[in-house]
Amino acid sequence: MRIKECVHLGVECLQEVTPIPQKETMLLLCDMLGKEMSWLVAHDADEIIPNEWFYTALKRRANHEPLEYILGRASFYDREFSVDARVLIPRPETEILVDKAVLLAKTLPEKAHIVEIGSGSGIVSIMLALMLPDVKITAVDISSDALHVSQSNAMKHGVHERISFVQGSYLDAIHESIDMIVSNPPYIAHDEPLGKGLSFEPSLALFGGIKGDEMLCHIIDLFMQHRVKALVCEMGYDQKEPLYTYCVAKGLEPTFYQDLAGLDRGFYIQ
Ligand code: GLN
Repeated sequence: MRIKECVHLGVECLQEVTPIPQKETMLLLCDMLGKEMSWLVAHDADEIIPNEWFYTALKRRANHEPLEYILGRASFYDREFSVDARVLIPRPETEILVDKAVLLAKTLPEKAHIVEIGSGSGIVSIMLALMLPDVKITAVDISSDALHVSQSNAMKHGVHERISFVQGSYLDAIHESIDMIVSNPPYIAHDEPLGKGLSFEPSLALFGGIKGDEMLCHIIDLFMQHRVKALVCEMGYDQKEPLYTYCVAKGLEPTFYQDLAGLDRGFYIQ
């Protein structure tokens, strides 16, 4: 089969599932052939024999499984991270969480201790380690499966010695003082209908309780109890009002930020 015929086949299989069926098919072909996209475009008349992996990948994608899980990688901040069904797929809006954390870190003492609650694939802690060479970072996750993924990602980006990986619930396993908490916790309400793709992601990483903001509220409580200097969290687009009310009742003044789509997406407190 010629490469362009494989692309055509993929477009037919995936056009109901994704707005970019051609690009996704080409990415699968690149992985199957071990070639770059530019090679594929220049050789679209070449004859190839698609293997079992390619056909299975198309079937998985046609069944709405996210492309990132099929390829085993996702990009975040222009870097490549390994992902699989043990961890949440990085979202572009989480780059803003990292940006805010970096800005807040500048106001902290040197060698500040930053704790990430719910580190998943490790993207946030790893980017912080890369961007803030002097801080000490602890990445906490309740899932040992997720910690395996984040540790191998930290190794891949050369920062495994800068981050302590800890299995635990919230701050239960942290006994040192903390200067900043960073978190993109699960914040979806338990009964919110999910798109088909989301059902492939770990529910532990998605659902934050009955209303969805329960984990965020608990993190705010911990921020106060542990006398932490700064807190930055991602949240759901509709959680600004309840979280504002929650903070104000505790005498805190959160600053909210929006994502690139203009939706409320997170907050920080100093
Ligand atoms: N910190 C990881 C991320 O932002 C995981 C978040 C999570 O599992 N809720 O993608």
